[in-house]
Amino acid sequence: MSAYSRFFSDRHASLEAYTPGEQPRDMAYIKLNTNESPYPPSPGVAAAVAREAGRLQLYSDPTCRDLNAKAAHVLGVGEDQILMTNGSDEILNFIFMAFGDSRHPFAFPTLTYGFYPVFARLNNIPYREIPMGTDLSIDPADYRGLGMHIVIANPNAPTGLYLDVSQIEQIVATNRDSVVVVDEAYIDFGGESCLPLLKAYDNLLITRTFSKSYSLAGARLGFGIGHPSLIADLNTIKYSTNPYNINRMTMAAGIAALEENDYYREKCRLVAGERERTKAALRGLGFTVTDSAANFLFAAHPELDGEELYLALRRRGILVRHFSTPAIRNYNRITVGTATQMDALLDAVKDYMKEVSVL
Ligand code: PMP
Repeated sequence: MSAYSRFFSDRHASLEAYTPGEQPRDMAYIKLNTNESPYPPSPGVAAAVAREAGRLQLYSDPTCRDLNAKAAHVLGVGEDQILMTNGSDEILNFIFMAFGDSRHPFAFPTLTYGFYPVFARLNNIPYREIPMGTDLSIDPADYRGLGMHIVIANPNAPTGLYLDVSQIEQIVATNRDSVVVVDEAYIDFGGESCLPLLKAYDNLLITRTFSKSYSLAGARLGFGIGHPSLIADLNTIKYSTNPYNINRMTMAAGIAALEENDYYREKCRLVAGERERTKAALRGLGFTVTDSAANFLFAAHPELDGEELYLALRRRGILVRHFSTPAIRNYNRITVGTATQMDALLDAVKDYMKEVSVL
């Protein structure tokens, strides 16, 4: 039975919407299912947001001038190379809207961020999913000279696997007539950004978010960085949809967060340390765990059903993310939290393994 009203456009009849991670309210869970930071924003953020709350009768600055200037300074790029959006999901949608059409399809890996195919279908853009290795790796050779717009999450989600800058450069350099989008949502947890490549390539677009490494998932702030001409195209889409896409409080939060960069760098270091400790502990329990460079782990156990484990952890008050996609149905994606949260996760995993006589 269709869930649609009789008025829903035929254009969207086959659209399968993105499913965000669950947010159940029945008990207080340790939430390791949506790759949020376990740490609150830095102290200056709340004060800045409170100040702007008293000015909400006024529209926000559609040019995001102060925030752009701050971000441009931190990243060492021009202000005309940045576009701020309502989460990086918004800039990703803008990218599909701006550059895709029936003659300009997109390509991305088979296993990656689930929103890419949704944006392609929403905007009626054909796309090709490029197969990955059995170890879930992305082979840059598969993208060399592809002649399609390309989106690569680096590190990739949900695997956490990372391509180095020279591998990304191979893809960008051999597709000069296509836009190559590198989604760096998780770059601050250990990978090296391909930002320096922007000097040489006008077809490279990088997307970033404040949701993970800047503890601002609830503020909804992301951005794109690229050649001024690409940013101008994306601005045309922005001004054709929602010119005030960044509200006053979020803009203030972003500026304050960038002013307290050291706080976040330290938190990313803590998360990366916990990731490595938890990875080693899970491997010690017999799990296969990818070498994630992100703030999450991707793990499967040869003797455990992935969904059963997800449900067992849920019963024990711990939420992780399980995907039913056949190739990865034995895996779970586990957001890295504090040491206390990771200890609770490991205890719950061991408890379940004992229950089913695997430990
Ligand atoms: N890209 C990737 C790879 C992600 O995992 C996410 C988070 N779900 C996003 C982009 C979007 O994050 P946000 O809209 O919160 O910036």
